[in-house]
Amino acid sequence: MAADSCLFCRIVAGEIPANKVYEDDQLVAFNDINPQAPMHVLVVPRTHVATVNDLAPEHDALVGAMMRRAAAIAAERGFAAGGYRTVFNCNSDAGQTVFHIHLHVIGGRRLGWPPG
Ligand code: 5GP
Ligand code: ZN
Repeated sequence: MAADSCLFCRIVAGEIPANKVYEDDQLVAFNDINPQAPMHVLVVPRTHVATVNDLAPEHDALVGAMMRRAAAIAAERGFAAGGYRTVFNCNSDAGQTVFHIHLHVIGGRRLGWPPG
């Protein structure tokens, strides 16, 4: 998908506004527009990768950075000890709607398991 038609590429580029909570040279994190919990942040890579199925060895450090950023965001909000959830949805059965990988970081309430 071309970057100009990908919603999260456009948020990364600053063409569509988002409530950003973190950014560096690899990643941007912003609040989900439809939060499912008091904390619902999306951690996205600046580079376009459509789904988890499209990850390659060259992305290993990037995905590690995404996970560690999720943990840092949860920790700075006081959820490290109590717990939180990180989720990558992949394709239709998991409900993926935006085809630029994003790590959901969800917390601030008791979360049910198994997921719906
Ligand atoms: P998915 O279902 O693909 O795993 O998650 C996509 C997420 O992106 C959803 O939780 C949805 O609420 C969020 N989202 C969709 N459009 C926008 C938007 O324009 N801005 C922000 N901040 N979040 C969005
Ligand atoms: Zn994209």
